[in-house]
Amino acid sequence: MIPQETVGRILDLAQIEEVIGDFVTLKRAGATYKACCPFHNEKTPSFVVSPSKGIYKCFGCGKSGTAVGFVMEHESMTYVEALKYLAKKYNIEVVEKEESAEDIAQRQRSESLLLVSEFAGKFFQESLKTPEGQTIGYQYFRSRGLTDDTIRKYGLGWAPVARTTLVDAARSAGYKEEYLIDTGLCKQFDDGRVVDTFYDRVMFPVHSVTGRVIAFGGRTLKSDKSVPKYVNSKETEIYVKSRSLYGIYFAKNEISRQDKCILVEGYLDVLSMHQLGITNVVASSGTSLTVEQIRLIRKFSNNVTIIYDGDGAGIKAALRGIDLVLKEGMNVKVVLLPDGQDPDDFAKKHTLDQVQDYIAANEQDFINFKTDLLLGEAGNDPLKRANLINEIADTIALMPDAVVRAVYIRATASRFEIDEQILADRIGRTRTNMLVSEKKQQEREARKEEYAPVPVPDPEMPLADVPYVAAPQHGPIVITSQYLEACEKELLGFVLEDGCTELLFDKDSRYFSDPPVTVADFIDGTLADSELIFVNPSYDKVYELYFAMYQEGMTQQQIQQRMLNSEDEEVAAVAREILIEKYQITVKNYEQSMTAASTRLTMYVPKSLLAYQCKRVDLQVKEKMEALGSVADSDAQLSLLTEINALNRIRAMLNNELGRV
Ligand SMILES: [Zn+2]
Repeated sequence: MIPQETVGRILDLAQIEEVIGDFVTLKRAGATYKACCPFHNEKTPSFVVSPSKGIYKCFGCGKSGTAVGFVMEHESMTYVEALKYLAKKYNIEVVEKEESAEDIAQRQRSESLLLVSEFAGKFFQESLKTPEGQTIGYQYFRSRGLTDDTIRKYGLGWAPVARTTLVDAARSAGYKEEYLIDTGLCKQFDDGRVVDTFYDRVMFPVHSVTGRVIAFGGRTLKSDKSVPKYVNSKETEIYVKSRSLYGIYFAKNEISRQDKCILVEGYLDVLSMHQLGITNVVASSGTSLTVEQIRLIRKFSNNVTIIYDGDGAGIKAALRGIDLVLKEGMNVKVVLLPDGQDPDDFAKKHTLDQVQDYIAANEQDFINFKTDLLLGEAGNDPLKRANLINEIADTIALMPDAVVRAVYIRATASRFEIDEQILADRIGRTRTNMLVSEKKQQEREARKEEYAPVPVPDPEMPLADVPYVAAPQHGPIVITSQYLEACEKELLGFVLEDGCTELLFDKDSRYFSDPPVTVADFIDGTLADSELIFVNPSYDKVYELYFAMYQEGMTQQQIQQRMLNSEDEEVAAVAREILIEKYQITVKNYEQSMTAASTRLTMYVPKSLLAYQCKRVDLQVKEKMEALGSVADSDAQLSLLTEINALNRIRAMLNNELGRV
C-alpha cells in the first residue's frame, strides 16, 4: 500500500508536460503544448497538453486524462504501477506501509487460528470414515442425496460422539489449546477441563473467499428437542459472520463467468444446487443479508437472484435485507418456489434443465415482486394503497442509478395508474433528504457564519425542498431537472476551475468586499444562505468533496488532480466532464487570454447564481399554483396565495438583479 501522503506528493510534483515529454515530442503553443497523438495515427498535431490544468486531450481520438492516466494508458500500467513509475522519476521515496510489531503478532495469531481450523476440518473429514462416522454421518449425507464428490469437495465431516476426540488429536499433533479455545472449536470448564464444542454432529466447514476453512456449522441428527439443531462457530478475527457467505469459494468463478449470483438460505440448499450443476450459488446462512455480504458478491457480479421457499414469513423478513442490496446499486431478482419447497427439495426433485427453466421463467423483478406482495395485503383500501405506493417509492429512491430509477418510476406509475411526475417528485425529495446528511448540514452552518454571503433579496421563505418538477416557465420554455442540472454544472464548473480565485469586484459593485472572497466562498455562501442543495446527486457529491479539500487548504490544482485521479469513478467522471470536456470546447477561446479570467468571473459567477436561484423559485411557484388548483378550503387557498405572492416578490427581485448584473 502506498500511503496517502505519498500519493499526494506524487500528484503534486508530477508535471504533465515533463511526464508526457518523455514519450512524445511536445511543441510549445502559447500556454499549452502540442504534439502528434501517441494513441492514434495522425500527421497534424491535435494532441494538446495543458500544464496549468495538468491534463492532456486529443482532439482527434478524444483520449484525455492526467499525468497518471497518461502513464497508465501509454505504458499499460495499473494505477499503483503508474504512481511508482512517477515516484521514481521524481525521486520520491515510496515506503509502502510497513507492518508494526502488533500487526505482525496479529497476523501470526490469525494464521495460527486458520491452521487450527484447517486441522479440525481434516479431523472431521477423517472421522466421517470411521465406523461411527460411516453409520451415522455418512448415512445422513447420502440420505440427503449428496454424492461422494460433493461430500469431498465441500469437506463435509463428522464430529464424533465422545467429548474430547478433537482436543486430544489436536494436542498430540502439537496444536496449542489456546488456539483451539480461541477459535471456539473447544471450550474450557471452570475446573480446567477442555472439551470439544462440536460432538455428535455432521459438520459443514465454512470456507473463506480464498478457500481456507474459517468456521463450522454442526447439525445434530437427534430429534431430541433439548439439543439445538445447529451449533455454529463463534465469531473470531478469522470469521466474521456478516462478511462470510457459505459456498463463495466454490461459486465465485462461476458467478463472475455467468455474471449472476444465486442466493439461497442454507448449507443443504447450496450443496444440492451445486451438485445438480448450478454452481453460482451461495447462502447467507440464516442471517438476513448484510452490506458486507453484498459487497462480497459485488466483487464478482452485480446481479443477484434470490430463491425463496414460498412461505410468507421468511419473505417478509427478507424484504428488509433487499433494500440494502438495491442501495448498493445491484440488480435483484426473486424466484419463489412452488408449494413451500426449499431449494434443496426442489433441486432433488428436478433435473438441471427443469430447474434452470423454472428459474428463467419465474425470475421476477424485485420491485414487481414487492408490489405484488404488498398489493395483495392492501386490497382495495385506498389508504393502504397510498402507503404502499409510498413504500415502493422509497425503495426506488434507494437505487443509485438515475436511469434505472427512471425505468422503475415509469413502470410503477403505470401499474398504479398515477401521474409519473408525482412519483418522480416524491422520489426526488426522498433522495435529496437522504443525500443531505447531518454532517453536511453542520458544515454548511459553519461556513455560513464564516463568510458574508451575496446579498439575496429578502427571502421570507426558505427555498429549501424545492422539488424539481417539469414546469412550463415563460411560454414554451419547459424547465426540466436537466435544465436545473445544467445550471448546477455551470456553478460546479466555476468551483472546480477557479474556486480558489478571488473575485475582484469594482468598488461600487454591491458585491464588493475587502478582503475579496474567493469564487468558492461566494458560491457556497449564497447557496447555503438560500439553503439550496444541488438536485443532481453526483454534482452534489463532487461539490461537497471540493469543499472538504478546500477547507484543508489544498490548492486548486491539487484538488483538480485529486478529483481527476479519484478512485471513485463517479467523482472522476464528473471532474472529467467539467475540467476536460468543457476545456475541449473553450480551449481556443479563452485558455490563452488569462488576463480576462478575473473579469469573466466577476461577470458570470453572480449571474449564474441568480439564474439558478430564479429557476428554483420558478419551480416552487409552479408547484404552489398546482396545489392552489386542488384545494377547496378557503383558508388553505389564502395561505397558498400568500406564499405565492412572497415567492413572486423574490422572483421579481432576483430577475431585477439579474437584469442589472
Ligand atoms: Zn489521439
